[in-house]
Amino acid sequence: MPGQPYMLDPAVEAMPRERLRRVQDARLRAVVQRCYQNMGMYREKFDQLGLKPDDVRSVEDLPRLPFTTKEDLRSRYPLKGLLAVPREEVQRYHMTTGTTGKPTISPLTRDDVFRAEEALARCGAAAGVGPGDLAQLMFGYGLFAGSVICHPAWERMLGAAVIPAGAALPSATQLDIMQEFRPTVLAATPSFLLHIAEVAREQGVPIAELGVQKIVTGAEPSSEETRVKIAQAFNAPIYSDIYGMCELGPHFCVECPHHQGLHINEESFLAEIIDPDTGQQLPPGQKGMLVLTCLMKQAMPLLRYQTKDITVLEDSPCSCGRSHLRVRRIMGRTDDMVKVKGVNIFPSQVEAVIRGVEEVKDSEFQMLVDRSQAAVDSLTVKVEAAQPGPELAAKLKAAFSRAFLGSNLKVELVPVGSLPRFSHKAKRLVDTRKL
Ligand SMILES: [Zn+2]
Repeated sequence: MPGQPYMLDPAVEAMPRERLRRVQDARLRAVVQRCYQNMGMYREKFDQLGLKPDDVRSVEDLPRLPFTTKEDLRSRYPLKGLLAVPREEVQRYHMTTGTTGKPTISPLTRDDVFRAEEALARCGAAAGVGPGDLAQLMFGYGLFAGSVICHPAWERMLGAAVIPAGAALPSATQLDIMQEFRPTVLAATPSFLLHIAEVAREQGVPIAELGVQKIVTGAEPSSEETRVKIAQAFNAPIYSDIYGMCELGPHFCVECPHHQGLHINEESFLAEIIDPDTGQQLPPGQKGMLVLTCLMKQAMPLLRYQTKDITVLEDSPCSCGRSHLRVRRIMGRTDDMVKVKGVNIFPSQVEAVIRGVEEVKDSEFQMLVDRSQAAVDSLTVKVEAAQPGPELAAKLKAAFSRAFLGSNLKVELVPVGSLPRFSHKAKRLVDTRKL
């Protein structure tokens, strides 16, 4: 079977769909029972709907279940009515340190930790990470569920060697390590890799000649243009993306070498796409919000969790041999999207336009949304440019006008190095509207 060497567990990852469905039905019934019996939040939600756990017999019944939102979790901080196991069974707590409000907690049992590691081992395996590889891990260590999970998974499950560099080391030190140790694999957020590439250019470090073969990114969505840019900068032929969310477990997807979207780990998660306005399920191929149901999570299984990520579910067969459904690259977030003069605009789309204009294709950018006294919203895109001028500004404006008809956004060219850089999640949208 093509691609099979890149699977950690072909029996699961390429399981025939009929069998997979039977596994999902049984696991859904079990998790619904556990949620109702052990989690106060779900008992309340079920009772409000007049829903009994026995009413859920199969995946077909999914729309009957209540949604779960990030606000549900925040309002129950730290874990009021959210634990499905006795507290002494929790082996680890990860959490996202939110920029606003309380953090979101992800408690994991021993089994949850194993599955989390397995999910990241699948991601590494899909990129061909294995014995003989040396991986420089530049995801954050600590509360964030990045390197702490990736590190043991790649060491023990894949047999790779690891440099636990983390995200806190300065780029110059990361570059030193790359030059001295010649890692074959780099794992980091796309924005951090772009930043390192920029520092390397400034310092004259030939990163394309360091022998990097595989790049694994994660923790933030990136455009195809960014992927191409990173792969070219490091001259790395293999590129794979990880997608996950702390509160869910945390990782639920694998990007296979065919790059036709990310395969959901469907033995552990059920995926739906819903219309974010109506909550109605949408068929594969239609764009909407990704909603996930945990089938195997022990400590805090979530039912129909609204990720706020906008994407499309793909059910066409993938030539890698994996049978699991795919989600296309994340197109934005429902809470990240700005609506300017009725046009929905995501930072990822703005980025794609910038990467397509030669003079600024490597530039950092920022989006500023403001509302005038007359309640008219405006979007200004600040783009760093080495050689600013009215011609370049006009060229960019024309490119934006083509991409976002009628949005009438403004372009401002700013000096290189004047916009913030990100080593973790890039936050390029600044919304100063008082809504
Ligand atoms: Zn595939």
